[in-house]
Amino acid sequence: MNIHARRVLLENGWARDVRLTCADGRIDRVESGVDAGGSDSRVDTLLPALANLHSHAFQRAMAGMTEFRAAGRESFWTWRDLMYRFLDRLGPEQLEAIAALVFMEMQEAGYASVGEFHYVHHQPGGQPYDALSELSDCIVVAAGRTGIGLTHLPVLYTYGGVDQEPLSGGQLRFANDVDRFLALVDACRSGIRALPADARVGIAPHSLRATAPADLARLLAAVPEGPVHIHIAEQTREVADVEAKLGQRPVAWLLDNVDVDARWCLIHATHMTDAETIAMAESGAVAGLCPVTEANLGDGIFNGVSFIEHGGAFGVGSDSNVRISLCEELRTLEYSQRLRDRARNVLVAGEGSTGRFLYTGAAQGGARALGRDAGAIAIGKLADLVAIDSTHASLCALRDDQLLDGLCFAAADNVVTDTWSAGRHMVVSGRHIHRDAIIARYRAAVSDLLQAI
Ligand code: ZN
Repeated sequence: MNIHARRVLLENGWARDVRLTCADGRIDRVESGVDAGGSDSRVDTLLPALANLHSHAFQRAMAGMTEFRAAGRESFWTWRDLMYRFLDRLGPEQLEAIAALVFMEMQEAGYASVGEFHYVHHQPGGQPYDALSELSDCIVVAAGRTGIGLTHLPVLYTYGGVDQEPLSGGQLRFANDVDRFLALVDACRSGIRALPADARVGIAPHSLRATAPADLARLLAAVPEGPVHIHIAEQTREVADVEAKLGQRPVAWLLDNVDVDARWCLIHATHMTDAETIAMAESGAVAGLCPVTEANLGDGIFNGVSFIEHGGAFGVGSDSNVRISLCEELRTLEYSQRLRDRARNVLVAGEGSTGRFLYTGAAQGGARALGRDAGAIAIGKLADLVAIDSTHASLCALRDDQLLDGLCFAAADNVVTDTWSAGRHMVVSGRHIHRDAIIARYRAAVSDLLQAI
């Protein structure tokens, strides 16, 4: 498979008239200053495609259902109540159809891969399916249908709070102790063999609310290789609960009690002291930032300036999937910092293009978080690639790094023309190649589900 691009962002900078040769999902050869061959896919501007490092696919079907105000009930926790009611009705077929839509939308927005943080495992009421990995298998099938690069992250969710309260109601579908969870991880590893070799399985202790310290230690000893993802410090109430129970704020506790390193992705990490921020940046863990969802839920603003100053790795995820847009994710990340600090061009180390720093930083951090050998265009890397149209009206006055500034701040996702996931060419001329079938199936699968909420 060959691609010819007028302009490419290579690992060491911009190049013109570049021909990439790919084999077995990886970049095999890079030639600059050459003409296109007859069978090449021809594109305008080629970039490393980002990983979407944090998604709960099923929540996409709830988008727009929680944007009303009820007196005295406005909070993250009422949003979560609706999510639990929704879950009472979600079955395998619906999950697969929703996940396929979500993965397709991600690819059309320019993401090549996804970290699916998957915590719904059992039937309503908590009875396991005949196959423990029934719902994980649906995620795998959806990834296969869309061609996205999947890092599947089954979630260990055991308790209803830091005091190890038993789960109840909607949460019963999430419940596993460590033994059953490890059996689930094994089943997922078998199931994922149905996908191409770039797919993989990691683990996700849900949070310090839902996973006890002793269980976390057992889990990490049993699955040491990662990737390991955990929700952390998203809500101030969560910070207070963890501090009351464990004697430290969540990020501080995790860094002091667990061997956190580059295998880890800390999702949100919204509420950190300066000391926590610096220690996390130095740990090598990736900050899994979900700016659109964090804004939608009113979580707060990440301590980005200090984190970047200390060399922290970061990537972005669409989390609740209320909106799937790579441009908006990066834009919201920077704008939240600007609004807080009343400053411009905040998230850039030293001097230079904010768009370039945000885009390449998120490409590298996202790939690391998913355990994916990608994040840059270079020989040997996975061919996770996205092409944008620099002749589009929103970009046509811009050159090189400015194109990334335009992508982050001026354009919409409709500048994306093509996306490859490990060499699989799934988006062509701005449309996923299975778009119509995926949308038809989604509409059919969720119409009952949505009417009943
Ligand atoms: Zn999440």
